[in-house]
Amino acid sequence: MQVHEYDVVIVGAGGAGMRAAIESGQRARTAVLTKLYPTRSHTGAAQGGMCAALANVEEDNWEWHTFDTIKGGDYLVDQDAAEVMAKEAIDAVLDLEKMGLPFNRTPEGKIDQRRFGGHTRDHGKAPVRRACYAADRTGHMILQTLYQNCVKHGVEFFNEFYVLDLLMVEEDGVKKAAGAVAYELATGEIHVFRSKAVVFATGGFGKVFKTTSNAHTLTGDGVAVTFRRGLPLEDMEFFQFHPTGLAGLGILLSEAARGEGGILRNGDGERFMERYAPTIKDLAPRDIVARSMANEVREGRGAGPNKDYVLLDLTHLEPAHIDAKLPDITEFARTYLGVEPYTEPVPVFPTAHYGMGGIPTNIDAEVLLDNDTVVPGLYAAGECACVSVHGSNRLGTNSLLDINVFGKRAGLAAAEYVKTAKLPELPEDENPAEFVQTMVETMRSSNGTESVAAIRKDLQETMDANVQVFRTEETLRTALADVEALRERYKNVGIQDRGSRYNLDLLEAIELGFLLEISEIVIVGALHRKESRGGHFREDFPDRDDANFMKHTMIYKDPEAEVEGIKGLRMENKPVVVTRYQPMERKY
Ligand SMILES: Cc1cc2nc3c(=O)[nH]c(=O)nc-3n(C[C@H](O)[C@H](O)[C@H](O)COP(=O)(O)OP(=O)(O)OC[C@H]3O[C@@H](n4cnc5c(N)ncnc54)[C@H](O)[C@@H]3O)c2cc1C
Repeated sequence: MQVHEYDVVIVGAGGAGMRAAIESGQRARTAVLTKLYPTRSHTGAAQGGMCAALANVEEDNWEWHTFDTIKGGDYLVDQDAAEVMAKEAIDAVLDLEKMGLPFNRTPEGKIDQRRFGGHTRDHGKAPVRRACYAADRTGHMILQTLYQNCVKHGVEFFNEFYVLDLLMVEEDGVKKAAGAVAYELATGEIHVFRSKAVVFATGGFGKVFKTTSNAHTLTGDGVAVTFRRGLPLEDMEFFQFHPTGLAGLGILLSEAARGEGGILRNGDGERFMERYAPTIKDLAPRDIVARSMANEVREGRGAGPNKDYVLLDLTHLEPAHIDAKLPDITEFARTYLGVEPYTEPVPVFPTAHYGMGGIPTNIDAEVLLDNDTVVPGLYAAGECACVSVHGSNRLGTNSLLDINVFGKRAGLAAAEYVKTAKLPELPEDENPAEFVQTMVETMRSSNGTESVAAIRKDLQETMDANVQVFRTEETLRTALADVEALRERYKNVGIQDRGSRYNLDLLEAIELGFLLEISEIVIVGALHRKESRGGHFREDFPDRDDANFMKHTMIYKDPEAEVEGIKGLRMENKPVVVTRYQPMERKY
């Protein structure tokens, strides 16, 4: 076992982790631990854009952006956080520009901007051009730019290091972060990283679903690791289904396709969004568009031989425009569905995309132990965190923004904290790596007969079938019973590879444990929330219920407690921060 010492340890090298590292790396001894090589992080798959009210191509301001974010999130957004994000968006884009990011430009040389769902002029009057972009490779450009700047600042990376535990100590009755324990993929060695501060930036957990836009690696590790250490998770029941996944596959076609003029049509060729969102139509927020699509299919107006998808029509756009603005995603349609977007509409259906919930933080990215107690030295940013700027439904382009704004804030806050903090002493009579050693050894030596792939498949299938765009008590109970049975089967899981070098078998088994744990929390939260809001739609409770549910869900691990029949969990609530926008009816 190797032991390392740093001021700041950042877990994750996606956009949030690297944006944090650029700040902290210039001010404090910083290590970035990442299970993927940094430029393979999912941020690199982001397509459409990153928004900021630059007003480069039409009138706009950060207050409109704040309002859109709050309304888009169906009023579960913490409004102080949304204000910070919308205000700091402008510098976040300019920071990236100065770091060298090649944004698309207007003819006068300004950063160009395009439309995206839910972003409007003057509180919903019409769509506004707010998304900055680099063709449909915006995330790729962000990730490369951030990585180059990390290298420039000499940030130390530990690539293919899987963090499997968070170290915490108690000093004078206060629980603090003390480091992280990682498994090195190449050697199978376990490393203890002692540090004054730890920043989690481990991304999402879309792999709880089968049909998803998310990469295979998005297994919610940071979310599960902190939860296992007694920290709460916030608003996990809210999961976003992106309207335009390639039908049957889930591969994403960015909302930029609609931002550039693409239109959704049902099997009858009708532009059905005119009925559901008469003002902004195809550019309504994702929860509304995804539900409308699912509804068209349910009511028999789907397209295709089985009428089980709808169509994204780009055929009225000039091929040259498609090539300039949407080159990658149209290539996906050709490659994976054999459809030519110049001349044929593309079959699409909602795909699991983004977890609004996660590790609760305040606006300085400090992790919360409960509603207002901060854990000294512990930070989280990006998709694994819940600030909450997205509330119950995130607007497109607000995540690339979130990772830049709150990644930067996390890096700055951690660097400031370590200036005066001491390196926490670990208890001498305890082995800090014991938890991880036991987990790894138990898995490696297990003679279990259940396969990882089979359990994962069953998990993803029940989540797809029962925790979807539309949910009811009955579907959620089915999913919960399935997940409980799968957790039993998981106790008897076995792996083929018993070696120590590049043992991906072992790590997939551990990641499956994270997915099972997270799924349970998602379902329990969804069962408890007997209302419909944003991405969470209960057919048995179709209305938003502000009197009873205008509050965040906080779920804790607690052996003494029980929630929705599940032992070992405790549920509490956290008030929503309302500054200037009282909840209103949400019409588009
Ligand atoms: C296909 C697609 C397109 C998208 N398009 C857009 C868009 O156009 N605009 C927009 O705003 N948003 C978009 N999003 C959402 C957005 O890209 C993500 O929410 C965001 O990039 C997440 O960034 P992150 O830094 O939090 O995590 P990620 O970029 O996912 O990075 C996670 C990091 O954590 C590391 N990690 C994870 N677990 C561990 C562990 N156990 N130990 C060590 N390291 C670990 C990984 O190695 C990785 O480096 C898109 C998402 C997808 C999937």
